[in-house]
This record gives sequence, structure tokens and C-alpha cells, in this order.
Amino acid sequence: MKSRFAPSPTGYLHIGGARTALFAWAWAKKQKGQFVLRIEDTDRERSTQASVDAILDGMSWLGLAHDEGPFYQTQRFDRYKEIIQQLLDKDEAYYCECSKERLQILRDELTEKGEKAKYDGCCRGKKLDTGVVRFKNPLAGFVTFTDAVKGEISIGNKELDDLIIARSDGTPTYNLTVVVDDHDMDIDTVIRGDDHINNTPRQINLYEALDWDLPKFAHLPMILGSDGARLSKRHGAVSVMAYRDEGFLPEALLNYLVRLGWSHGDQEVFSLTEIVELFELKDINKAPASFNQEKLLWLNQEYIKSASIKHLLENLAWHLDHQSVDISTGPTIEAVVEHLQERSKTLVEMADGLKMFYQDFNEFDEKLAKKQFKDAKSIELLLVKLNALELNDWTAGNIKDQIKQVCDELGIGFGKIGQPFRLALSGNGNAGNIDIVAQLVGKERTLARLQMALDYIAQHSH
Ligand code: GLU
Repeated sequence: MKSRFAPSPTGYLHIGGARTALFAWAWAKKQKGQFVLRIEDTDRERSTQASVDAILDGMSWLGLAHDEGPFYQTQRFDRYKEIIQQLLDKDEAYYCECSKERLQILRDELTEKGEKAKYDGCCRGKKLDTGVVRFKNPLAGFVTFTDAVKGEISIGNKELDDLIIARSDGTPTYNLTVVVDDHDMDIDTVIRGDDHINNTPRQINLYEALDWDLPKFAHLPMILGSDGARLSKRHGAVSVMAYRDEGFLPEALLNYLVRLGWSHGDQEVFSLTEIVELFELKDINKAPASFNQEKLLWLNQEYIKSASIKHLLENLAWHLDHQSVDISTGPTIEAVVEHLQERSKTLVEMADGLKMFYQDFNEFDEKLAKKQFKDAKSIELLLVKLNALELNDWTAGNIKDQIKQVCDELGIGFGKIGQPFRLALSGNGNAGNIDIVAQLVGKERTLARLQMALDYIAQHSH
């Protein structure tokens, strides 16, 4: 059994494409079959290498590995030529020399009459030997097929015109190449976006003219933005790699994507293994799916919370590199990540939260500092007490005891010293459990930062 993902390299891998890829991948894996990646790059003007790379990067970041390919259609032109010739020889196709002007006039006339603009078959009987090549679509009857998602679909051949299968320079068009490839590559289930559903009857006619077996078709519902319009750049990031950049884990995005148009009861969280186990074409929804950024963020947080430290580190590496965080001096990264795991919705947040453990800063958040750095006495006392702790005793428990002692000796509540301490340590007040944070930040840095807070108070006290 084989399924495929067949993107055109005319942009990055977007959310819709990734969802198609995931469904096709899941179906192949479920059947213990093969997943084929095919790059449909016949449109030489719009296809770019950068975009091929972007697609491959996106697929590899998501972890959707192909078993065959990537195949490039531009490397298969000889095969398409052979098939086009076969169709010409069998009188299933013909050359057409109608000018652009004639076609335009024809279109205008039909549109004016309120009819569908289609080619009138003018060159069908002319036996020309140059021009574009058109497929002789049957003139009567119906094309009927059962889409695994949409159910039975039936289109009258009268609705379809003689499709161009080769341009005048001999290069093949999409509907021809897709049929030849899906046949040659033994694809038995074609899973793709429902923007292609109108092409399917034409493709079926081609299969029939070539005496080839039909694959199954499953057309996925479209993805809408929160405002009900088709998902586009306006709705925020649509490129898969932008989600990597924004700190999402690939498995969180995959989990989110699988629920865009597919469900299994009311379960929301699916591991990749579960997706493969549970995936069925019949459970794909007919109705369009709505993209919901909040839910994706929620899933991401769930995945961060339950991920292993090792896995988080693998995915964090890019962010640390990107934000130039040097973790060679400071606490062990594993300990810091474990501390941040509960508090981070994204890996970007985590990388941000991690900086205070490895980087010194030279100013405090102005607003918070004004409010919280008032009482030098308690900070001074804490500094003295912490300074007295031996390096070996620099543990969260001992640090907590020292804070308590400061509170007792000065008769103040925990917040009175806890808040300024947190700000002193973090610079921005953004830190978790204060004694653990201080332990991780280390004695030397903690003392220096408390001293910095004292300096701030001294400077602002007149
Ligand atoms: N290359 C087509 C696209 O990117 C997909 C064709 C197909 O899946 O049949 O829209």
C-alpha cells in the first residue's frame, strides 16, 4: 500500500500542506505501507530550489519521513512525453492551435450567456501536429467515484472540456503528470486538499483512457482561520517552520494538525504512535476545520510538561543557538530546563527564562525596581547571611532557611524579601521558586545581583 504527498515547490511548507502530508503519512503507516514524497516542480517559473529545501526542512522537522523519493517531476519529462504520445496515437488526444484571442472571445461569449467557460473542441477533428495537446474528454456520460471523505460524487462529462495535457513547448501539465506519477508510483490512495476535487473527474477520465486502475481518493476539508475565511497569512504564521521558530514542539504541532479535520471520539492528545494506530479515513470530517491558535498553545504546553529533558534539549538547541545563549558557564542545563519545564508555554519562553542563569544583566526592570527595591536593610541582611553559606551548603533548602531567618530577625513577611530577591536574581521578576532559582544561579552570581540591587537603592534614595 502506498500514499504520497505531492507538494508544488512554490513557497514554504504551510499548515495546510503539512496536514495533508500528515494524513497521507499516517494512512501509509497504519497500513504498514510506504509513504512517497513527490515534488511537483513542472511549473518552472514558480518552482524554486529554496522552496524545495523549505519543504524538505519542514517535513524533516515534523519527523514525517518518506519511504520513497523525493521524486522530482522535472526528471520525468521523458515518461510524460511517452504517455502524451500514446494518447495522441490512440486518438485520445489532439493538437490544438487556437489562439489566445480566440479562446478569450469564446470565454467572454459563454460567460455573457451565463454558461461555464469551456473549450469548444474546435481543433478536435483537425489532425494538426503542433500547438498544445488536449485530451479528448468523453462527450457524454458521467464520471462517478466515491471519495473516502465526501462520499459519492458524480459529474457529467458535459461539464468538462478538453483539458490541455501539454503546453506548446511540449511540457506536461499538472493533471497529466499527477495521473502518470500516481500510476507509475503505485499509489493506491490519493489524499489531498479538497481544492483538487474538481480535477479528480478529469484525472479519472485520463486513467480510463490509459486503461489504468483507479486509486482511491480522499479529499481533505479546508482549514479556516478564526474568522471563518480560508486560512492565510492574515491569520498569523502559516509556515510550518515559523512554528518551530515560535517555540512549538513538532509533536505538539502534529497532534494539533491531526485534529484539524480528523477525530477519534473527544480525545485531544495523541502521540504519533496513537495517531498511526487509530487513523481511519472514515473518521475524516466533511466540514471545514477551524484553526485555533489557543488550542495549539495549550497542546504545546502539555507536550513541554511531559517531555523528557533530553527531548526538550534537542529541540531547545536551535533556540539557544538562535538567541546566542552560551550555556558553558553556569548551572547544568538539565537542571535549569527541569525547573522551567512547568512554566513554559513555548521553547522561546523557555530559552528566554533560561538566560538569567547564564547571562548577567546590567539593569533591572525600571517599573518593578522602583516598586520593590525600597528597603536596603533586608537585602543587606540576606546578602550577609547568604555570603556566610559555604559553597557546599549552597542548596535550595539552606537558602530558604536564610530567607526565613531574615524574615524572623526583621519581623517582616516573606513577600517583603521574596519579591525584591526575585527581581534581583532575574532582573525582570520573571522567575519560579526563589530558593531553587538562587541555587541554580549560583552563589557568586546571586551575591553580585543582590549587591546590584543595593547599589540601585543607594542611587535612587535621594
Ligand atoms: N502539487 C499539488 C499541490 O501542491 C498537489 C497535487 C495532488 O496532491 O494531487 O497542490
